[in-house]
Amino acid sequence: MVDEITRNQWRSRQTADSNEPLPIPFVDLPSTHEPLIDEILSVWERILRDGSFVGGPEVEAFESEFAAHAGAKYCVGVGSGTDALILALRAMGLQPGDEVITVPHTFIATVQAIVEAGGRPVFVDVDPATATMDPAKVEAAITPRTRFLLPVHIYGGAADIGALQDICEAHDIEMLMDAAQAHGTLYRGMPIGYWGTAAYSFYPSKNLGASGEAGAVTTNDSEISERLRWLRSHGESEKNRHPIGGVNSRLDAIQAAMLRIKLSHLDEWISSRRRWAALYRDALSSAPLDLPVEGPDVFHSYHLYVVRHHQRERLRESLAAGQISSGLHYPTPVHLQPAFRHMGHGPGSFRQAEKWASEGLSLPMFPELSEEAVARVAEIIIRTLDHRVQAQRPA
Ligand SMILES: *Cc1c(COP(=O)(O)O)cnc(C)c1O
Repeated sequence: MVDEITRNQWRSRQTADSNEPLPIPFVDLPSTHEPLIDEILSVWERILRDGSFVGGPEVEAFESEFAAHAGAKYCVGVGSGTDALILALRAMGLQPGDEVITVPHTFIATVQAIVEAGGRPVFVDVDPATATMDPAKVEAAITPRTRFLLPVHIYGGAADIGALQDICEAHDIEMLMDAAQAHGTLYRGMPIGYWGTAAYSFYPSKNLGASGEAGAVTTNDSEISERLRWLRSHGESEKNRHPIGGVNSRLDAIQAAMLRIKLSHLDEWISSRRRWAALYRDALSSAPLDLPVEGPDVFHSYHLYVVRHHQRERLRESLAAGQISSGLHYPTPVHLQPAFRHMGHGPGSFRQAEKWASEGLSLPMFPELSEEAVARVAEIIIRTLDHRVQAQRPA
């Protein structure tokens, strides 16, 4: 119900002087797009007149602009973030049966991509504070068949890339990073793509989103970049020549054109997200719940603002009663999904991932949020938790 709040409702309610609380959506894409609509439509019109729909100059321009923003030498646009992961693993040389170490606390696509590419996922638990791959757990999961680490920079934070790179070097394995939620995130002052090959998603609700499905891989390795270009287009190296197998997963010109326009605003949008994150932090600092941790090495892009409390459902209900939408990312860890039950990991196998899954609550977070909205969300959370403490007090 509150999830379906439209831009018009949210906007007209913002200016309406009524006493009922204004609904606060969880994300608000129409407000982000509103000021850009004329500009987007005019490039889309040009594309319609030119007739260059798949690949072409808009795609090439976006690839070079996104590579620069991601701190990487090369960018290859593909059909989705999931395809970016699958094709990157193939381009990096994954062989059938190779083991790929990843985390169970992620969107399921990370793990499905490993299977689709022919690999075998192996889980390690996440760090209790950052929800990213715990480097201390990785060595125990390495076997002679381990070929890749696939950490996820979840929520717009960053895994401990330095520690993971040390492990890769010591064991002669490669790293592919799932950066689907980490456009604009910095680690030690540099964007994610600077540190190695990374897969990005431009699903509409990501920090940089298309108007449909789209994704990209960034890399500093010219061979990986070239193989990706072949793989995304039927394994074609030049017209009618196919040295390798491949798929059809190219980036559309209309998506690239829109992404170029949005990319030029990404840094200001991330500044806004960080401003709302700082306000949440101040307003909730005395509340008895866990707030997101931004490590010393990480410039967080706050794709999501996830707090944790053991009575998460109760908070979610109070917020809904106050006309505020919230989200769950993700309530079932991948090892407990029916699709991966055959791996044999029961409840209790990855305790930190399970804790994040059962306690995490994503609060409204989008560039057009407001101080008033953040204050109202915080107020309801504080009131709900206070009430609980009082209710438990002996009479
Ligand atoms: C969104 C997402 C993906 C998949 O991207 P799509 O573009 O939806 O295919 C993969 N991993 C993570 C962590 C994501 O958030």
